[in-house]
Amino acid sequence: MRRATKLALGVVILVAGGCLYVNRGGIAVALMRRAAVNSILRDSVTNLPDGLHVGFCGTGSPFPSPTRSGPCTAIIAGPRLFVVDAGRGAASILARMGLPSERIAAVLLTHFHSDHIDGLGQLSEMYWLAGGAKKPLLVIGPTGVERVVDGFNESYALNGSYRIAFDGPLTAAPSGFGLAAQPYELAAGDTSAVVLDHDGLRITAFTVNHKLVGPAVGYRFDYEGRSVVVSGDTATSSNLVRIAAGADVLVHEGMSPRLVGVLEDEARAAGRTGPAELFHNLQTYHTRPSDAADEASEARVHALVFTHLIPPVPAGIMEGPFLDGARDHFRGPLSIAEDGDLISLPAGGGALRKQNLL
Ligand SMILES: [Zn+2]
Ligand SMILES: [Zn+2]
Repeated sequence: MRRATKLALGVVILVAGGCLYVNRGGIAVALMRRAAVNSILRDSVTNLPDGLHVGFCGTGSPFPSPTRSGPCTAIIAGPRLFVVDAGRGAASILARMGLPSERIAAVLLTHFHSDHIDGLGQLSEMYWLAGGAKKPLLVIGPTGVERVVDGFNESYALNGSYRIAFDGPLTAAPSGFGLAAQPYELAAGDTSAVVLDHDGLRITAFTVNHKLVGPAVGYRFDYEGRSVVVSGDTATSSNLVRIAAGADVLVHEGMSPRLVGVLEDEARAAGRTGPAELFHNLQTYHTRPSDAADEASEARVHALVFTHLIPPVPAGIMEGPFLDGARDHFRGPLSIAEDGDLISLPAGGGALRKQNLL
């Protein structure tokens, strides 16, 4: 290229860059307008084929993490959306995935540890105001769910009164405020109960083994010949193996004793005995990946996906130490979920398909 041409090109780039810089405010507003339209109108469910779909609206645990929100698993059965647990950030990830709150038929709680309910307030607010709800968000859970729901409703009562007064009943319908509990009871021991059986979808709750925490359950979803099992929080559980038999996908919590052990050692070395004890104790009521893989093999599930990661390691080089040989214990597809992942199981059969909606 001749020197004069290069110079002219340089001037053009400089002028164009200068124009962009001068107009950066206008460009930012235009980008925001497009993002707002996309997020307000986005409904990923309309583009999904009929079948069962598993969305990961939070793959973390109580540990802070910049990339993993609190525990949340979305189950889409045809047009219906169910949310299993609502950890911190659940409402935000659901919205970013294009899973609109107005589609939520119910939230299903596995147990009442804080990390599984932290996001209920934000989710109910989103359901009420963004979703234009005329009825409270339904929360189905084992006995005790009424107490959790009453507590959230009381905490948000003043907020609700402000919204209704300022925004008006058409925008914030008084009848749509808050949460409504639907408890069910499970007999002691290894047991299960069908909590919903409607329009081809059956949801079965089953007890798991979260040691001193009870009730603690997992859920099995059966729809159009496909099945997904969500473990909830559990140490190894023979009841889970029994209920998960033959499922297409087992979504299981995972705890790495090796990595949690590092945290425990460091906390002790720093003289932080409180956190050190927490790191020690939690290893007794969660499942190491190789044990979950053994259970997946025993139950003959097709695929195993880890969520509720303890600690919430980023993908990549930490995957090896986290799984710690688990792949040798299970022959089928085995993966670690990321926030925003969606696994689709077409109705009647066919290969699993995975995408990330964020
Ligand atoms: Zn948990
Ligand atoms: Zn728990």
